[in-house]
Amino acid sequence: LSADVLICGAGPAGLVLGNMLRAEGIRCLIVERQSRAHVEQRARAGFLAANSVRILTENGLADGLHANGLTHDTCAFRGDHGEFELKYSGLGRGEMHTVYPQQDLVRDLVKEFLDRGGEILFSTEVSEIDAEGASLLLGDGSRLTGQFVAGCDGQHGVSRRAVPARVYQRDHGISWFALLAEAGPSVSAVLYAMHPNGFAGHMARNATITRYYLQVPKDFDPRSWPDERIWDELRLRMRTDQYGPLRTGRFVERRIVHMTSHVMDPIQHASLFLAGDAASLISPSAAKGANLALMAAETLAKALAGQINLGDSVPLKSYSAEVLPRIWRAQEFSHWMINLLHSPSGNDDDAVFLRSLQRARLESLRDSRAHQDHFAENYVGI
Ligand code: FAD
Repeated sequence: LSADVLICGAGPAGLVLGNMLRAEGIRCLIVERQSRAHVEQRARAGFLAANSVRILTENGLADGLHANGLTHDTCAFRGDHGEFELKYSGLGRGEMHTVYPQQDLVRDLVKEFLDRGGEILFSTEVSEIDAEGASLLLGDGSRLTGQFVAGCDGQHGVSRRAVPARVYQRDHGISWFALLAEAGPSVSAVLYAMHPNGFAGHMARNATITRYYLQVPKDFDPRSWPDERIWDELRLRMRTDQYGPLRTGRFVERRIVHMTSHVMDPIQHASLFLAGDAASLISPSAAKGANLALMAAETLAKALAGQINLGDSVPLKSYSAEVLPRIWRAQEFSHWMINLLHSPSGNDDDAVFLRSLQRARLESLRDSRAHQDHFAENYVGI
């Protein structure tokens, strides 16, 4: 055996799982297609829910996050209706986000995993997984064998293909131009702006980097607009003439994110267990992907440790049944957020009807304390 648990992918799911298993003395090996430098610089998520901070803290993985993360507790909605803010730390369960860039979290997790005696094969691609034989076929034709395999290789990985599951998927028909700007925050809140040209979002990452989103057509070329054209569109949709200017800077990342979701059911087969984006992809509208990845990694780590160290097979057998309802809750909220943030342009009856629903939804969120509590619980919760 190469290890007790073979983990495919060194993203948040695979690394949290690996660290928790090492803490239980379980031998595990992570195989990662990219180099260490690549995964430690890959900017993606930033908003960690209270449950994610708990998982990282309880498992000794949160030193960097507590030293350098920023707490965040307010979001604002701007549009035809005007603007309102929700300070969600005073709503629902009183939870808030911690903003800590995913690449910094991954760097911390890699270091800790190696310090705990784990092994990572970087720049090594898994080309096939044998779920029955608990083995990984590597790109060079060699094979690694374990007792269990964890498929944590994201939405484009190979592990999903090795689980004979039904895949429920949805293309929401919306695309976001995701940008990272070398610019400090322009407002203190996460800002969701609704405009006839489409949605625009502002989410500060730290004092010098801000993520922006612009809704764009599906076939939009991210290189087709010069920086100034992008800033003009952000200013227009964020109505800066009414609400104040944006702090600008160079764009250091431009990518297109399509709003698609999928959920596999089940997310386990024989000795193979999926976690993170490999098990379910969620649209980034409510910033839930990394948080779901951590939730599943914690559940799987406990189940594997129970099986390997105590011979208790029950948690592992019910892994899918335990995790899937929580995935669906997050999917439901994320889908609701998509409908809150986007509406069709044009003046035909259907477009006007949907825009009127969007406005009614926003007004309800602005005016109803019960609605705000529900929003806060789901926005920060997993
Ligand atoms: P990944 O992070 O994708 O890691 C999978 C790993 O497997 C990768 O390192 C990959 O290289 C490796 N791999 C793939 N195939 C193979 C193979 N064949 N062999 C070996 N290795 C392989 N989520 C939030 O919670 N909050 C946010 O604010 C947020 N913002 C986001 C913004 C953007 C622009 C994007 C794109 C995503 C965002 N997300 C957010 C989602 C979040 O980044 C993902 O859900 C998260 O990375 C999932 O973690 P994972 O470990 O499952 O997969």
